[in-house]
Amino acid sequence: MSSSFAEALEAGDIAAIRSAAKADLHSHLYFAAPIADVERWLGRAVARPPARMDGLDGMRAYARQAISPYLDNWPAFEFVAGAAVRHARSDGVVQLEASFDIWAVLHHPEGLGGLAAFASSLASRFHGEVDFRPEIGFSRSFVSKDHLMTSLSEAIETGVFRSIDLYSYEDGCDPEAVRWIYEKAQGAGLKLKAHVGEFGGADEVKRTVEVLQLDEVQHGIAAAESTAVMNWLADQRIRLNVCPTSNVMLGAVADLESHPIRRLYDHGVDVTINTDDLMIFGQSVSDEYLNLYRAGVFTANELEEIRLRSLRR
Ligand SMILES: [Zn+2]
Repeated sequence: MSSSFAEALEAGDIAAIRSAAKADLHSHLYFAAPIADVERWLGRAVARPPARMDGLDGMRAYARQAISPYLDNWPAFEFVAGAAVRHARSDGVVQLEASFDIWAVLHHPEGLGGLAAFASSLASRFHGEVDFRPEIGFSRSFVSKDHLMTSLSEAIETGVFRSIDLYSYEDGCDPEAVRWIYEKAQGAGLKLKAHVGEFGGADEVKRTVEVLQLDEVQHGIAAAESTAVMNWLADQRIRLNVCPTSNVMLGAVADLESHPIRRLYDHGVDVTINTDDLMIFGQSVSDEYLNLYRAGVFTANELEEIRLRSLRR
């Protein structure tokens, strides 16, 4: 029997797809608002990204030119964060795990205390509509920056952040170099996540999960290269929070039709469907579901199963 969500996918009824409850478990707050909202707030046009970018370097080159000159300040971040949760609500996202980069501590006039208070207030503002769970995130390039790592450690102590995430190129640092901060986060009850297997290999996914004791992996699509690693992820019940459009636009995957999320799913890996950087990739969670359906990657009933499972935890 088809659910109304599956029927909405089959009919291409985007309004009905939006009205179904969904999760977004992989979102970076700095880039999480729709670009049109940013343009309205700035009162000026912002250049759109090219359809294909050369990995994270290509994305950074675009962001440095088109976005950072306007958004690298606290009032802009505050606007973007609010607009991001508002947009998530309009897209039917009832569970949102979006990361505050620890970099924001440097931009908030009151430092970490101000940042944590803002994160709490944002969660309160949408209480009852969106279960907004603030996440704290950092780049592998921050590992050698003592002041940022100290702020990160203090951010865990605030009790405001519910999960931790690590990103940027996998060769930026060995997982061992950040094990201490993950141990601290684990002790404080945070959900442990890290970006791995976006551009790197399957073995790196397994190693990072083991060293950092991850609960969930951001991307992790390279695991599809290894049946052994997929079986291991399925056995260990490690969830992969996948962002299909991001993978295609950054060249990690050739096209949506051949996206490895299918292979991961077929091997019993718990996969979810997420936005990554909505401002850049331009696809909401609802859009991502419909895109995968139209590309023939999943049936409507499979997408319904993924949707329901992503809301559990
Ligand atoms: Zn990401």
